[in-house]
Amino acid sequence: MKKASIVSIGNELLSGQTVDTNAAHLSRELLAIGMPVASSYTVADEIAVIVRALNLAGGDADIILATGGLGPTDDDLTRQAFAEFLGAELQMHEELLQKMQGFFARRNLQMPEKNRIQAYIPAGAKALPNNRGTAPGIIAEADTKVFVAMPGVPSEMKQMFAESVLPKLRQLIPDQAVVVRKLRCCGAGESIIAEMLGELMQRGRNPLINCTPESGIVTLHIIATAGSGDEAQQLVENSEKLLRNVLGDLVYGTDGQTLADVVGLELARRGKTIALAESCTGGLLAKLLTDASGASKYFTHGWVTYSNKAKIGEIGVPADLIEKHGAVSEAVARAMARGAREKACADYAIGITGTAGPSGGTEQKPVGLVYICVDSNDESQVRRCQLSGDRGSVRRRTAQTALNLLRLQLPH
Ligand code: AMP
Ligand code: MG
Repeated sequence: MKKASIVSIGNELLSGQTVDTNAAHLSRELLAIGMPVASSYTVADEIAVIVRALNLAGGDADIILATGGLGPTDDDLTRQAFAEFLGAELQMHEELLQKMQGFFARRNLQMPEKNRIQAYIPAGAKALPNNRGTAPGIIAEADTKVFVAMPGVPSEMKQMFAESVLPKLRQLIPDQAVVVRKLRCCGAGESIIAEMLGELMQRGRNPLINCTPESGIVTLHIIATAGSGDEAQQLVENSEKLLRNVLGDLVYGTDGQTLADVVGLELARRGKTIALAESCTGGLLAKLLTDASGASKYFTHGWVTYSNKAKIGEIGVPADLIEKHGAVSEAVARAMARGAREKACADYAIGITGTAGPSGGTEQKPVGLVYICVDSNDESQVRRCQLSGDRGSVRRRTAQTALNLLRLQLPH
């Protein structure tokens, strides 16, 4: 199977000034055509370091895609590094120089002398046209491997990749397909899910199952490789069935679906409405539920009752309940949900109260303690959660947990 390696070149990537979006874009594009990425290197604008990275990348993969360092200034050295790596002289290409002069002329500018260097390509290599900027790309073959250099500017790189590189890569892998499906899970951590899946997650299997956790959501990536798209698709579907059988209702959706999307769809399908009374999440749950277009079908009200006064005055939480149990308590979460549901005349309501931290925790009620109540005509369920992480993480996990409780409470 043919694999790719990515080399991201630029001092700004190493100083944290620029986030390497090029590598992420290329990885996604490569996977979509069935070419796995074996490795990715990020290196400084230094000839020796770039040459070393090209050697390493060539050891890992058949197609090596470099970006960055093709600019006209002295700090951009990818062109020289490619020449050194290929053991070839840089040669001036008259037609590239003329194209570049035309680029400036169309803007009523004189081409700066500095740009001349961009008309140089290592002997034996070919130039790739750049329709958005001055820097042509470079494509060369060495030891049966293909080495490509593209500009760092993301819009220029994307266009050059799509127009000049992708068609060549497709020709190189006519009988190689990768299909990826994501299964989104909520309700158990990644280690529990991995234990449930057992040998299904073993390395080296096809499909390969990878796992990424984020804010209470565990995503399982099912990656199938086969000789054709149909075959890979079939492998993914069989694997998805197996996983769903093992995980049951821990699986809430697939691919780009969020919990809020799924809950919204289910509410709309049943013609049910929802209201919210949030304290420590400060409106985050309302935001997530209203991110979906068409949310007005099911979302009626969201109160952010942050103070006791708001809880009492806005949604009728009894003052003595707060005094007796404290604002962060099961009784108050229940009263918030009930109050919101009655005031909004909604079918469901969620009440959330907790301590997101970092200050405000006590021994009895530590930071991360959250009560979530999902209330309906038929039942009122409260979940006590002790969440870890910083303030943002506690708030995000609380909102996702609340959505998941509602999802599970909706009649099947
Ligand atoms: P260069 O081709 O090295 O002159 O890069 C031009 C600009 O593109 C840089 O100043 C960065 O802002 C941007 N850039 C370079 N490499 C990347 C990358 N890997 N991801 C995102 N942006 C990049
Ligand atoms: Mg640069």
